[in-house]
Amino acid sequence: MPDVHHNIKLSLKQEKELIRLYLEEKKDSSIISKIFKIHRTTVIRYLKRNNIQPRTNGEAKKLLPSAFKGKKHSLESRNKISLANRGKRFSQKTEFKKGNIPWFIKHNLPHPALGHTKEGLRGENHPNWKGGITPQVIKLRNSPKYAQWRMNVFERDEFICQDCGYDKGHILNAHHIIPFSECIKLDWEEEIFDIDNGLTLCKPCHDGGGYHA
Ligand SMILES: [Zn+2]
Repeated sequence: MPDVHHNIKLSLKQEKELIRLYLEEKKDSSIISKIFKIHRTTVIRYLKRNNIQPRTNGEAKKLLPSAFKGKKHSLESRNKISLANRGKRFSQKTEFKKGNIPWFIKHNLPHPALGHTKEGLRGENHPNWKGGITPQVIKLRNSPKYAQWRMNVFERDEFICQDCGYDKGHILNAHHIIPFSECIKLDWEEEIFDIDNGLTLCKPCHDGGGYHA
């Protein structure tokens, strides 16, 4: 980091500003270090000099305005996010292009746009219900090849949920467009590990977006 100075001395005015950013605006030390182009440890040193106990990572996380804290977006807010993300480009490879058949129609999958609800298509009511998880599924899901597929999907999608566009620390799922169980049923092992059959979704979207029963 050539722009970052370890032992720079801030003016009194700058020091006051640093403290204000930390205490009043609740900016974290790494943000402040970027503002002043000083090292993070220097920020901490200034805090301690002013008898301020630096916040732990956990405390800092709680203050993040974008922290989602494991809650689900309501349908309303998901629609808002979806609208806000309209026209934004995430991954050229996976984005919807004019003339494409929506994947959920192509693969005859449940989707909120078709009026399907999570409750209505659970378990045996769901067209993809195959009577539960088999040992073969467990074996494949735990394989290194599966882990690699998952990572490839995430990397292609730049770790961004392809439904809501969320990219700030959610648990991400690699979703199978042609459902895993369908691939098993058809003995399509190739599709299970095909990156084009994968889609990055955050957990709330994956769980609540009508992607599965
Ligand atoms: Zn999402």
